[in-house]
Amino acid sequence: MKVFSLKSDLISYLGPERSNGMKIGFVPTMGALHEGHLALIRASKKEADCTVCSIFVNPTQFNNRKDFLKYPVSLSEDMDILKIEGCNAVYAPGEDDLYDPPGVNTVKFNFGKVETILEGKYRPEHFNGVALIVTKLFNIVQPHFTYFGQKDLQQYFIVRQLIHDLCYNIQLRLIPTVREKDGLAQSSRNRRIPENVRPEAALFYKSLITGRDMLHKGSTVNETKEYIKDMIEGHPGLQLEYFEVVDTEKFTLTDQINNKNNTALCIAGYINNIRLIDNIMYI
Ligand code: AMP
Repeated sequence: MKVFSLKSDLISYLGPERSNGMKIGFVPTMGALHEGHLALIRASKKEADCTVCSIFVNPTQFNNRKDFLKYPVSLSEDMDILKIEGCNAVYAPGEDDLYDPPGVNTVKFNFGKVETILEGKYRPEHFNGVALIVTKLFNIVQPHFTYFGQKDLQQYFIVRQLIHDLCYNIQLRLIPTVREKDGLAQSSRNRRIPENVRPEAALFYKSLITGRDMLHKGSTVNETKEYIKDMIEGHPGLQLEYFEVVDTEKFTLTDQINNKNNTALCIAGYINNIRLIDNIMYI
């Protein structure tokens, strides 16, 4: 496995691979790897000839500096894991390889209403930072395929829009959420959940399942939202940020299930000041 910290070296490595007809699969991550990330790597290994993984905790997508500073980092463990998975190349740059000068971020994206709901509403500038880093990485790696997780469903829609609007010739793949036994979506942030409150973290997933059952049995979206709010807030260690039903075709909030195949239930909240998000499809 080749490891690069400079984009110039990665570009020099990938050029000949591409000219030799190798199909490049790209998995962007922020590291602290878990089974969710590995599902993306494995999907790339199946489809592409050369799998590239990036590990970079992108400062511009954190609206909260403390959250950025607390983000788990485990670079050498990540390298070991990627080697075992057969990843071909890892790009783990320092901030100055991608932001020069650091801290300056001039390009602005506008994704319209999608940015004003859910993560966009509660994390202002988040998707601008995501789009900026994804654009930089796509331009450096120039992959044929790229893999994103359903856990960050809104991010997937933003990336899809970006690929469409900027005419990237990249096949985008959505990989299902990998969960712990009790349903908690795997996340790098889970490492920060203290063991004594860990069982309660699964309540975010359980409330998605409860919400979906209620909707299937005929409760309205508003009744379901009220119930889930009470369910989460009944646990003193948990705080609900949002629970919403989303029409995933246009990525808008909805208070009616109009299109069962394109409806998702999305949740975000805190446990011990650690922010978790999750979602499931209506069907
Ligand atoms: P992150 O390192 O959190 O930025 O995530 C990198 C990629 O892994 C994103 O496309 C995420 O959606 C995806 N991902 C994170 N957690 C999971 C999971 N539990 N299951 C599937 N994909 C995931």
